[in-house]
Amino acid sequence: MADSTEKTLFQKIADGEVPADVVYQDDRAVAFRDIHPVAPTHVLIVPRTPIPRADAVGEADEALVGHLFTVARRVAEAEGLSDYRLVVNNGAGAGQTVFHLHVHLLGGRDLQWPPG
Ligand code: IMP
Repeated sequence: MADSTEKTLFQKIADGEVPADVVYQDDRAVAFRDIHPVAPTHVLIVPRTPIPRADAVGEADEALVGHLFTVARRVAEAEGLSDYRLVVNNGAGAGQTVFHLHVHLLGGRDLQWPPG
């Protein structure tokens, strides 16, 4: 049975224990391609610190969470994208399946609004 000390899948990817198609990494964040892409570019940007979800972000995390947007811009530029969508699902009812904060970067096709 899982407990709070068990590493999340994305922590294992960030630590190099689970393989992933990593497109960017630094000391605070890792970006890798989603295993089930829903757009030509579908990259997940995760902090190395295992914050479980958006509503668990505290004031001490503000710089880190802002850094995720910097990483998203760098990845988008590397992918040749000027228009793209950044998504954070907060909670199972909103579609969150991995409880390690992550930003979806979606691009490379026309994106409809609102999402489902
Ligand atoms: P969420 O639904 O917002 O939590 O997003 C989780 C995402 O992680 C989904 O889009 C999954 O396709 C993706 N995912 C799950 N396992 C892996 C993996 O091992 N590598 C890369 N992406 C994964």
